[in-house]
Amino acid sequence: ADIYGIKNWGADYFSVSDAGEVIVHPHGNGIGVSLRKIVDGLTDRGLDMPVLLRFSDILDSRIKLLHEGFGRAIKDFEYQGHYRGVYPIKVNQQQQVLEEITEFGARYHHGLEAGSKPELIAALSYMHDPEAYLICNGYKDEEFVELGLYACKMGLQCIFVVETPSELELIIDRSKTLDIAPNIGVRLKLSTQASGHWNHSGGERSVFGLNPSQVCDLVDRLKEVDMLDCLQLLHYHVGSQIPNIRDIREAVVEACRVYIGLVNEGAPMGILDLGGGLAVDYDGSHGDTEASRNYNLDEYCVAIVENLASTLAESEVPHPDIVTESGRATVAYYSVLLFNILDESRFEISDLPTELPENAHELLHNLMAVVKVVSLRNAQECFHDAFYYRDEIHERFKRGTMTLRDRALAGSIFWHIITRVAKLTEQMDYIPNELRKLPAMLADIYYGNFSLFQSLPDVWAIDQLFPVMPIHRLDEKPTREVVVADITCDCDGKIDRFVGQHTTRDSLPLHNLTDEEYYLGVFLVGAYQETLGDLHNLLGDTNVITVEVDREGHLNYSRELEGDSVADVLSYVEYDPKNMIRRIRKLAETAVRNDAISAKDRRHIMDAFESGMRGYTYFER
Ligand code: PLP
Repeated sequence: ADIYGIKNWGADYFSVSDAGEVIVHPHGNGIGVSLRKIVDGLTDRGLDMPVLLRFSDILDSRIKLLHEGFGRAIKDFEYQGHYRGVYPIKVNQQQQVLEEITEFGARYHHGLEAGSKPELIAALSYMHDPEAYLICNGYKDEEFVELGLYACKMGLQCIFVVETPSELELIIDRSKTLDIAPNIGVRLKLSTQASGHWNHSGGERSVFGLNPSQVCDLVDRLKEVDMLDCLQLLHYHVGSQIPNIRDIREAVVEACRVYIGLVNEGAPMGILDLGGGLAVDYDGSHGDTEASRNYNLDEYCVAIVENLASTLAESEVPHPDIVTESGRATVAYYSVLLFNILDESRFEISDLPTELPENAHELLHNLMAVVKVVSLRNAQECFHDAFYYRDEIHERFKRGTMTLRDRALAGSIFWHIITRVAKLTEQMDYIPNELRKLPAMLADIYYGNFSLFQSLPDVWAIDQLFPVMPIHRLDEKPTREVVVADITCDCDGKIDRFVGQHTTRDSLPLHNLTDEEYYLGVFLVGAYQETLGDLHNLLGDTNVITVEVDREGHLNYSRELEGDSVADVLSYVEYDPKNMIRRIRKLAETAVRNDAISAKDRRHIMDAFESGMRGYTYFER
């Protein structure tokens, strides 16, 4: 059975082989390579876990699918405008991502979206296609505006999206001073609000964008300064990861009406920018949860093109170019985090006593009676009784009327009941909701060599769900139920919600640990995780390896970025590694002088300290 649901969330990129290994198909379907084989190659090269794998070919495939999807819809609905995607840099700002997106996107004139000055500067150094759009969102200062204006002068289609009323004056002022005509867009606050995690980006109370009355003021002001001919684009963004296609349809129709209004006001326009929102099916539930979506890429393209074509058909307004700022859907599949399991902590209970001590409290007798009668028929009732008697005993213990031994005994009997009920759920036709949580209550802990805060920050921050599974031994039945903890000493540093075949689960079925290294993969982590991650417990960036697979299935480890060393992360938080070495040397020398250690000890201590400084921040075997 597909207990990890890979057939649901793997799209065409991930599957399981007959040999029980996860296979990546970087080109979508077809040729595939085992992740286990990739790990072997890394181990041979001496690269330690954790490792973030990037698959350039997946990025190429995502951009291709997006453009082909819009291309088909445009043809089918005889839409007159073009589709021009732009990649929002904030979703994964790594240099490699920008370089590859501009390379793979060149044949479609795929552009970039910059939401800040550093992102604009990054974009200007990589995007030199005069037919692609460079969309500037976010707060803009004088330097930002001047850079964008010079970009226009050099022939790039750089467009300033006005996010707040005050920004317009700055754009007017700088463009008149430099005598460069700007391309202006306006971000609209839609009344349409999408469901899902990130819905606060849209709606009338969103922090960015202009309401319809402010949009009219903007038109009036541009007319006043004789610059209405610069107004080319209408933009909106209702939120990331929009689960419901209905919200996408509603938003595009509302925005299209405003677009028509702007053309009727005399603005040239020409571009409608729908922002991001194209969702990823992280749990493969096809829309049942916020981690999912109830549409596929083709349906998304059709919904947009069809609604635009039909809304515009009622007017004389020419069809605008369609821009989407799809980030998540472009880069999520690109990266896989791999780590090894270092250790385990088993859920263990002491033996059930055969008899209770003489004069044991009545509540203990009641609890013991439950453990003797538990059966398939009364499992749920016994589950309730176990909690009731245990809680009563805890209360009495707190009040001082029951002893520590009573309490320990109660705990042991309680867990025997829970374990039996959990076992019985395997025979149930229908498992009541409260009993479904039992495997997680009894789960063991596996300690993974990674930091949740560095590599999967959204799991901690917003309970984001990512598929997690072993990358090998999938031809063996897993025998353990597990919660995965990281190596930070933070109790939030754990994964305890997982993607299952039909539902999410609170524990993950995994295999027994053996002498062989056991590897887990966390999938679909290419969007938002890398730069949002932090240095909790001073665990730094992981090693990053780019893997390319040619059409014959040959592997190429094309780029290798070494993760942070201990000295690197210490310097990020303002330590000076050289000074630290001087300080420890002084401490050791004093100890030598005081005869606490020998001079040879001092050498060993200094070697260990300095090699620790140079080493990886993660657990090294
Ligand atoms: N455009 C804007 C203005 C955004 O704020 C965001 C992110 O929320 C995006 C695009 C990217 O959205 P997504 O990753 O859902 O495609």
